[in-house]
Amino acid sequence: MPQKIGEGFVLGLSPRYKCYHLGKQAAGTVVEVVLSCVNNVRLMDHANFLLYSEGKTFQFIGGRTEKSPARLAIPRTANWHIVVDRVGFQALSDSNVRTIPPKGAKPAAPLLAPGTGNAAPAAAAGSQAARPTSEADVLTRMLNELNTYKQIANTDSLTGLANRRAFDARMTQIFSDPKNLAGTALILTDIDHFKSFNDRFGHLVGDRILKSVAEAIRGSLPKAAFSARTGGEEFGIIVQVTSPDDAFDIAELARRAVESTSFTHQPGATEGSKITISLGLCMAGQSLSLEDLYIKADLALYGSKNDGRNRTSVYQDDMQDNSTPA
Ligand code: GH3
Ligand code: MG
Ligand code: MG
Repeated sequence: MPQKIGEGFVLGLSPRYKCYHLGKQAAGTVVEVVLSCVNNVRLMDHANFLLYSEGKTFQFIGGRTEKSPARLAIPRTANWHIVVDRVGFQALSDSNVRTIPPKGAKPAAPLLAPGTGNAAPAAAAGSQAARPTSEADVLTRMLNELNTYKQIANTDSLTGLANRRAFDARMTQIFSDPKNLAGTALILTDIDHFKSFNDRFGHLVGDRILKSVAEAIRGSLPKAAFSARTGGEEFGIIVQVTSPDDAFDIAELARRAVESTSFTHQPGATEGSKITISLGLCMAGQSLSLEDLYIKADLALYGSKNDGRNRTSVYQDDMQDNSTPA
């Protein structure tokens, strides 16, 4: 919040000073002002601040400062102001002033944002304009940062898909409302013979292929589908569907997208390798719990591996005893 006290103090058309209303500060508090240039940094109580702003004779503590940060001690408990003259105010913003309370005292109230003689603080602050100038700005900034960290925590850095943590959270969310279960399908998929691919071409090429497979899968899915890298070369897809046949069709789209891609080993190479994936799917309504759904979709996936790979299998109850891939 720009404060009002400095308003109306005008020399020609340009603001002459920038001031901070520090509020009531206890004796012994130290005010620290960080400035990148030599300047007058003045500490004055409210009565003297009024004299100053009316162009009358006033008393102050501080003055021309050669060193940054400038530290000024408050001699008695009162309302205090920091004033920086013309030269310095371009470089001064709210993060340049802080108060250090005396030992054992309660922390001082937060500082108000700076005011200037006749211009909006943000405009007058020049290169400092990007800094937060109000509580709302600071909150917005913090929220943006929090969202960025949240996104990083939920994203697989290699493929850009959601990671296992985000996948588990989505599954938990689905199972928190029984109404979701009937129309939700879980599709698990695993790259076929990826180990031998790594052994032949090396891990770095393997990583590039992994990324391309993820892109092919994601590109084939409906927008609303949720896809994640759930493990090394394994992916999970959660889709809302109206029937198991729809879920099967979506799984097959992903399978065919990978099958029809030629995965190049080097950027710009024209020749590449064929890669396939196997998939298993289970409807959430067929499961007793989140873990049960995962196990059943996994059994279906192993069914696909057993049946020769590069295919989609739908969970059947008789898969329970037949779960070791060839
Ligand atoms: P299957 O068809 O039965 O799935 O055979 P597979 O060789 O794909 O399966 P297996 O589980 O034996 O091997 C998975 C391999 O995936 C092991 C490892 O070399 C590779 N892998 C797992 N994570 C990564 C990764 O982040 N980068 C690379 N390059 N390879 C990975
Ligand atoms: Mg695997
Ligand atoms: Mg595999």
